[in-house]
Amino acid sequence: MSEIHGFAVHAAGAHLLPYKFNPGEIQESEVEIKVSHCGICYSDVHLIDNDWGISKYPFIPGHEIVGTVVEVGSGVKSLSVGERVGVGWQADSCGICEWCREGEEHLCPQSQPTCVGRNGGFADRVRVNWRFAIPLPRVLESENAAPLLCAGITVYAPLRNYGVRPSSRVGVIGIGGLGHLGIQFARAFGAEVTAFSTSKEKEIEAKELGAHHFVHTRDTGALKKVAGSFDFLLSTVNADQDWISYVNALRPNGVLCLVGAPPSGMQLQVPALIGGQRAVAGSSTGSPKDLYEMLDVAARHNVRAITESFAMAKANDAVLKVKKNQVRYRAVLAN
Ligand code: NAP
Ligand code: ZN
Repeated sequence: MSEIHGFAVHAAGAHLLPYKFNPGEIQESEVEIKVSHCGICYSDVHLIDNDWGISKYPFIPGHEIVGTVVEVGSGVKSLSVGERVGVGWQADSCGICEWCREGEEHLCPQSQPTCVGRNGGFADRVRVNWRFAIPLPRVLESENAAPLLCAGITVYAPLRNYGVRPSSRVGVIGIGGLGHLGIQFARAFGAEVTAFSTSKEKEIEAKELGAHHFVHTRDTGALKKVAGSFDFLLSTVNADQDWISYVNALRPNGVLCLVGAPPSGMQLQVPALIGGQRAVAGSSTGSPKDLYEMLDVAARHNVRAITESFAMAKANDAVLKVKKNQVRYRAVLAN
């Protein structure tokens, strides 16, 4: 077995350093993938910095992976060497619990994230359970498809699960890696879409991506002006916000769904929830079956990540640019 070479973090907040490890004999259910591209999700930054207290060092980050299968375990039924596949947040699950049996593997209590307790895609190769290596539609370019594997599924699944449709008024909060795909998918669902952003300079691009309206959230009173306007608000922001105003921006029966992880708790006014029957919810990535569906929708509705390409060896520069919110709209490392 040859060694896998990548870039690993050895302590919270540290720089990525060249790192190699021996993956051992390939297991029955595993595939080994030669990585061509890997997106940088803000969750990689949270893991690098141990924001969630779950990071296990040293580890190689990266969970928006596209590559080619180079080896398959003896129990792998449906993938073969040479096939192009994508891998997202999840690399394995128990396969037998009620959630796995229902095709909701992302809710499995024994779910294994691709780069927590394992090594991810900032590397030349990666190993995952074959069930989490998803063949990619031919029309999707590898660099633009990589961000779909985490950012894409994370915004697609809640839009679908909460029944977004042509009559829906949808707001996407935070126009970064997740948000710029959120606008495109919300349009594919036929909704009227509003982009909420702290970056005024993103207005033109947000509208080119499909947003009908743009709210610059740094404008005083901007959120008050849209009170009672939305059926579904999807927040991709990783910072604390004026959540009370966002709840007030919902119409009756509206849902504020959080996929971005703000550091503090949330202050809510319960009467605002009860009165209009509004809800606040969370959503976590998606299952393999959701990934198949999302990739098919992306291929047929021309949903593409806008990417900035970096050589794998420049991973530190790319991570820094992500931290500074300077990437338009997803940094992708290429081998
Ligand atoms: P990203 O590319 O950095 O985008 C986040 C966007 O949030 C920024 O582009 C910015 O948009 C906005 N923002 C940043 N700082 C802000 C602040 N202080 N106040 C208001 N808005 C701010 O990050 P990402 O990769 O999209 O990830 C976003 C979040 O989703 C992260 O917390 C990540 O961990 C989480 N995530 C969750 C899941 C899940 O399964 N639930 C999956 C993937 C990622 P504007 O410039 O437009 O304001
Ligand atoms: Zn992610």
